[in-house]
Amino acid sequence: MKFNTKTIHGGQEIDPAYGAVMPPIYQTSTYAQSTPGGHKGYEYSRTHNPTRTALEKSFASLENGKYGLAFASGMAAIDAVIKLLKPGDEVISTNDLYGGTYRLFTKVYEKFGIKFHFIGMENAKHIESYVNANTKLIWVETPTNPMLNIIDIASTANIAKKHDVLLAVDNTFATPYLQQPLNLGADIVMHSATKYLGGHSDVVMGALIVNSPKLAEKLSFLQNASGAVSGPQDCFLMLRGIKTLHLRMQRHCENAKVVAEYLKNHPKIENVYWPGFEDHPNHNTAKSQMRDFGGMISFTTKDNNYDESVRIVERLKLFVLAESLGGVESLSGHPASMTHASIPKEEREKTGVVDSLIRLSVGIEDIDDLIEDLNQALA
Ligand SMILES: *Cc1c(COP(=O)(O)O)cnc(C)c1O
Repeated sequence: MKFNTKTIHGGQEIDPAYGAVMPPIYQTSTYAQSTPGGHKGYEYSRTHNPTRTALEKSFASLENGKYGLAFASGMAAIDAVIKLLKPGDEVISTNDLYGGTYRLFTKVYEKFGIKFHFIGMENAKHIESYVNANTKLIWVETPTNPMLNIIDIASTANIAKKHDVLLAVDNTFATPYLQQPLNLGADIVMHSATKYLGGHSDVVMGALIVNSPKLAEKLSFLQNASGAVSGPQDCFLMLRGIKTLHLRMQRHCENAKVVAEYLKNHPKIENVYWPGFEDHPNHNTAKSQMRDFGGMISFTTKDNNYDESVRIVERLKLFVLAESLGGVESLSGHPASMTHASIPKEEREKTGVVDSLIRLSVGIEDIDDLIEDLNQALA
């Protein structure tokens, strides 16, 4: 089955009860048993729920994986992955990454004795220099947030395999439409499904997808034991969103290309970070592992002024100033004061998150209206 069919049919079956074409919302916490243990595969909805099962099969299908797991949020999905580890274990992580991931790693898990190394990963050899006997996990986010660097997944997977270390990829920005990390050798794919997979800014959800039955068993044990599962209503909304993922992504990419070029030629703009530019330092990696370049763009202004950038995002009208990304509507953000405020200034500036940096999630509106909005905000 091709990707554009998988979004609609992947892992889905007609509901056996009445032939419903859409998976029903099984709004139930429990299931009748004829005798103790005598049930139809479902006992309690923290463990399993039929609407969630339908979604988990869709997640697996999209990423070309065998097993999918749905969590209450992207953070809950990441949390489950880190719970595979024990005190003394070490993790090598992308240094330019989602602020909440950084916060979970440093503020929650460091105190349980897990050590995190945050490093630039554009050069795979650099990753290898941090591997030691305690290294258990490499955590990759690509494209990175908000600097849109690209990390070579296949090369990183080779290093992970050589040292028997797990490789997890946060595929939120790219989506499986653009890149499929399991095909490139990753062990775990993670999504904040809140973003492009759901696509309508109406659900908070996380996903993990794996191929290994052993890993799937450990993660579903953690999913049930810790209990951060997604409810049936949210699973239904997510399934509905996924059906148009390919159409939305195609338009996100088309619109972002026009916006990136517009910004590049604007006299007030200093840098535009978008992996589709030929002079982007990781353009070739992006071209080789991604189908297109995505809907996310970051840029800085020439005066590099905190207040002026705040005013620009305030003036934008269609690009609503808000946390999050990946919905059909365009959003703008000021990472230094919003998504990345939990990362110390010296740390964030090392990776390029300067005071004037603005991040855009380019939506699927008419491109002329988006350019007009940017024009008035930058005037
Ligand atoms: C939003 C986001 C997360 C966290 O997901 P939630 O659904 O908000 O918990 C993790 N990684 C990336 C790249 C994100 O954009």
